[in-house]
Amino acid sequence: MRIPARGRVTGTLAVVFTPDLPTGRLVFRLWPNGPRQAREGSRLSVSDVRLGGRPAAAALTDPTTVVVRRGRPFAAGVPVRASMRFALRVPGPVADRLARAGRSLRLGSFFPLLPWEPGVGWDTDPATTSLAETSSSPTADFSVRLHLPAGTSAIASGDPAGDGVWRARAVRDFAVAVGRFRAATVTAHAPRPVRVVVGVAAGMSVRPAAVAGEVGDDLVLLSHRFGPYPWPSLRVAVLPGQHRLGIEYPAMLFLGAGTRGELTRHEVAHQWFYSLVGDDQARDPVLDEGLATYAMGPLPVRFKVTPAFLRLTGEPMSFWQGRPYRAYQLGVYIDGARAARSLGPRSLVDCALRAYVARNAYGIATQAGFVKAVATVIPSAPRTLARFGIPARRG
Ligand SMILES: [Zn+2]
Repeated sequence: MRIPARGRVTGTLAVVFTPDLPTGRLVFRLWPNGPRQAREGSRLSVSDVRLGGRPAAAALTDPTTVVVRRGRPFAAGVPVRASMRFALRVPGPVADRLARAGRSLRLGSFFPLLPWEPGVGWDTDPATTSLAETSSSPTADFSVRLHLPAGTSAIASGDPAGDGVWRARAVRDFAVAVGRFRAATVTAHAPRPVRVVVGVAAGMSVRPAAVAGEVGDDLVLLSHRFGPYPWPSLRVAVLPGQHRLGIEYPAMLFLGAGTRGELTRHEVAHQWFYSLVGDDQARDPVLDEGLATYAMGPLPVRFKVTPAFLRLTGEPMSFWQGRPYRAYQLGVYIDGARAARSLGPRSLVDCALRAYVARNAYGIATQAGFVKAVATVIPSAPRTLARFGIPARRG
């Protein structure tokens, strides 16, 4: 990838993908073209699409979906090599996952992402207009060479491997922040040693050591509750233009100047609920947002429950789309956390969530799979969760 000081980000993507089911096409999602990001000024385009090194037919079936075909289907168990070039327009200082703010750059969900769900097939859910994710992707090993403007550095998923290359193993996405940073590093025992590396963009008054200490403490606490944090590092970019907004990516967080405390813990908890145990964020948003909200601890009293939202917790983003953002927050975040809390005492619920994480680590969970895993510890879970609209069977 080339990330210039101004203008478009460009790169080449090469993927080796082995489907576990036969399929007639390859699909890539261009999330920067979703309605919200497009309105903000993002645009991702691809060109020179190839299969096995040869030019291939690719079609944009909607602004966020590229479909690649060849004369014959792709067999299960046979690796396929696809490559393409991409160019990304990044908007100015918007509070979202793609932005240039001051001299910093925030790049999340920014390259063509392969949305395969093992055992299911392609996840082709529509993009949302909400400030929310609708992506899903299998875990993969990433190797990314970054060309940066002189005098800047990167904070990204994974670890630097020399010569501008970053490597990240067994992660479902790759995010990057670029800028001039003041940095601090601590080692958290979660329970294996994890390097927590924090960069605060120059000009911000946040202390990097304070953020690193807080994120490290959260990692230790959450690893006791939900199981080991499996990656060797967690990197954090504190950037301008996202004051009370945190955005989670695998082994990488974007935080703002005002995310101290429970918002930071929420984002760290996403390392278990989204990053390690993935979900289709369009179909099952409660599995990442509801559980990360549960992990924050006692709910703030300002979230009074509105009975009208009961039984809606399991609804997909397409349901929340077009309703007030507050309805989505109450129905998915708050009632999702309440659904978990209503299963029993915290130590028992945490134990059930450890079972869920252990059964679904590195995979893409479903609500039915969640109920099944939790019921191995709490047999009454299917009844309790059904009251919130989280079904024990795939609907
Ligand atoms: Zn969240």
